Amino acid sequence: MAGESQADCLFCKIVAGEVPATVIRDSETMTAFRDINPQAPTHVLVIPKAHYPDAATLAAAEPQLAAEMLREAGEVAEQEGIVASETGPGTGYRVVFNTGHGAGQTVFHAHAHVLGGRGFNWPPG
Ligand code: AMP
Ligand code: ZN
Repeated sequence: MAGESQADCLFCKIVAGEVPATVIRDSETMTAFRDINPQAPTHVLVIPKAHYPDAATLAAAEPQLAAEMLREAGEVAEQEGIVASETGPGTGYRVVFNTGHGAGQTVFHAHAHVLGGRGFNWPPG
């Protein structure tokens, strides 16, 4: 069934508490935890508790959950103090959805990377 937990999925195991993670936000539908291999001073992953292989598949099947994932990414940024303001010293943050092997996706459970606390280049590598 769509969204059902997958026995061989690392992030489903984190949702189930079978693999430890540093969880910083948790709701009925979403969890956010620190990336084990951080690429910036703040590097948090926001995932739906339901299993979908990538963000686009999630959005097609459950648009409300995709919207919640984006809202949660914003809440993480607020909580981590990485939201840029015109008057403050914030540098802003980046939300990334690696989709497919060629784009660097390694875990096939939808997730948003929330990165901040340093400057970023454009175009991305
Ligand atoms: P992606 O490469 O976009 O699929 O992102 C997967 C992310 O999951 C990578 O940035 C990994 O560092 C991260 N990751 C892998 N295993 C764990 C884990 N056990 N706890 C937290 N983050 C993890
Ligand atoms: Zn999963």
